[in-house]
Amino acid sequence: MGAWTATWLFPAICRPCGDPGMRDMDLCPACYRELPRNACACLRCAEPLPARGLLCGRCLRDPPAFDSVCAPWLYAPPLDWLIQELKFGGRIASGRLLGQLLARRLQRRTPAVDLVVPMPLHDARLRERGFNQATELARPVATSLGLPLDCTSLIRVRPTARQAGLPLARRAGNVRRAFAVRRPLDGLRLAVVDDVLTTASTARSVATALKEAGAARVEIWAVARAGRDGGPRAPGHHTHAHAADGGSG
Ligand SMILES: [Zn+2]
Ligand SMILES: [Zn+2]
Repeated sequence: MGAWTATWLFPAICRPCGDPGMRDMDLCPACYRELPRNACACLRCAEPLPARGLLCGRCLRDPPAFDSVCAPWLYAPPLDWLIQELKFGGRIASGRLLGQLLARRLQRRTPAVDLVVPMPLHDARLRERGFNQATELARPVATSLGLPLDCTSLIRVRPTARQAGLPLARRAGNVRRAFAVRRPLDGLRLAVVDDVLTTASTARSVATALKEAGAARVEIWAVARAGRDGGPRAPGHHTHAHAADGGSG
């Protein structure tokens, strides 16, 4: 089925407001412009900061192994509930929209990357959830940018407690040595795709593992950046604030 037919059968409808979406995307131009921007953030890890052009205290004290972070928006409506619909509700169409949004931002700067790698889930979590939300985001990103997607080289070897449920001080320990790389990555430039970045502890751990396997450069691409005290909430606190329910479900 061609793209034209698919668009004709399923016209794009803006998920937050129900207006017609942009071409092939379930978001209208007005809602796109209103997405909560992460405009003022640490130059290295994209943590929201009160002023521009700075590094956060943690990056100054303990520079991360990743080279840069692209996290264009904040973990706030409508992105928070779109991410929760994907992650906890299994709504793959939300993942497609979020991936398209991320790709749209990345296209502006033609990233110098050889491989796109989804942030892996541990096998136990993958069986429980049935899919990896990061793969659902990474697929449209890789397709849009014309980059290969690698879902097998990086694995999560240790199941970890959900970061959002842990006190800040325990999060770094929770993900230390949680990842393994299954082949040499000598000289490769990698982008690791995730849904939301909270403390960057997971991203730090992943980047360390990839660099140890020989990666020349590691970027982290996430749809949203949460402040240190705000991560994805557990389902049940899920509110559709700001959402007029697009009615496509
Ligand atoms: Zn809209
Ligand atoms: Zn930082």
